[in-house]
Amino acid sequence: MSEATQEKTGLGNYFIANYPPFSAWKPAHLVEAHAALQQAPRPDTPLGLYLHIPFCRKRCKFCYFRVYTDKNARDVETYAAALVREVELYSKLPIIGGRSLHYVYFGGGTPSYLSAAQLRDLMGRLQAFLPWQQAAEVTFECEPGTLQRHKLEALRELGVTRLSLGVENFNPKLLEYNGRAHLEEEIYRAYGWARELGFNQINIDLIAGMVGETWDNWRRCVAKTIELSPESVTVYQMELPFNTVFSKELRVVGQDEPTDMTIADWPTKRAWVDFAFAEMAKAGYEVSSAYTMVKDKARTKFVYRDSLWHGADMFGCGVASFGHVRGVHVQNLDSWEQYLAALDRGELPLGRALPVAPRQLLIREMILQLKTGRLEAGYFRQKFGVDVLQEYAAGFASLAQAGFLTLADDGVRLTREGLLQVDRLLPTFFEPEFQGTRYT
Ligand code: SF4
Repeated sequence: MSEATQEKTGLGNYFIANYPPFSAWKPAHLVEAHAALQQAPRPDTPLGLYLHIPFCRKRCKFCYFRVYTDKNARDVETYAAALVREVELYSKLPIIGGRSLHYVYFGGGTPSYLSAAQLRDLMGRLQAFLPWQQAAEVTFECEPGTLQRHKLEALRELGVTRLSLGVENFNPKLLEYNGRAHLEEEIYRAYGWARELGFNQINIDLIAGMVGETWDNWRRCVAKTIELSPESVTVYQMELPFNTVFSKELRVVGQDEPTDMTIADWPTKRAWVDFAFAEMAKAGYEVSSAYTMVKDKARTKFVYRDSLWHGADMFGCGVASFGHVRGVHVQNLDSWEQYLAALDRGELPLGRALPVAPRQLLIREMILQLKTGRLEAGYFRQKFGVDVLQEYAAGFASLAQAGFLTLADDGVRLTREGLLQVDRLLPTFFEPEFQGTRYT
């Protein structure tokens, strides 16, 4: 593959969310997952809960998540009952070990697709088994067009501390072309209500490189975001994974003549992220990770991300959800029918798993923490008894030579160039059998 081809926005995932890659996770390993759930937790391991709400008003053309756009109120009720049942099953397992939840994350899909009444009912029933009053953070993802003031009031009362708004772009034409369900004015309306209601932290998600994006429009998007002044801004680079509406369209017309709208290449998307980060830095934001800038780093935490990236346990509830317990990766069954049927039988709906060897747990934390732009060697010495700077000296040296990082006092710091493409660099540290693995 030539350099030029690599730099095109080709099909396939780029974002690295876990290690070892998902393709190594197998149903045959469920035995180890169930064994882990029957044991007490490892010492000093926080516990979190992820809840997948797989409904959306319409499917964005770039979406590769397990979502449904054709479910009715009865389906939503059936799914909510299954989620409650799943949380109930987890709440009775030895792996809980007396822990209360440290963080909760409602992701999707579109959690805000549910009505205020459905949310009150669901969250009340979930908390009967795993309460989150003590949690450091409860995040809730929202699509701006699904929010009303009374729904946000309900979320505030139900303990949501971090509201994440899927804005992605402000331009009505781009939003429509990319299949987003919301309108520009709905962003402002929802944001205004959320501010009035005093949520601790509002995050705005943007995507650099939606189909049809231009420099002029991106500059306006960044300016509008800064004007709103959220505590946190997350900028993703547009991917074109397999199984999206766009990827199918592109396969038909070929990569060089996609559609009437253009798709930016990776260097352009990186330049857009770089621009957004630079503008936000001027406005007083600080780098929190390769994707996120925050207003006040000492106060604006992202507990879900940082817990996961430091090896926390997490129950992943909902169809196709990912979790991690006591050194074992797990993923739920990924079809609606199978997921519901397992819970009907009173079984956890686990679909595949992977016991992670101690060295792999170290690599996992190392590559995930590199996404924050820094690595502290002392943390790894203390937790794993390994000097990562020595152990992975060749990998760090090659990245340093290429200008992607610098070796600092007892750790490494990614350069701006390195942070902008950190996901491309992480395979440097993969074990040989996972080099070149397709990341799905
Ligand atoms: S809102 Fe998110 S989950 Fe729903 S279709 Fe769009 S990208 Fe997918």
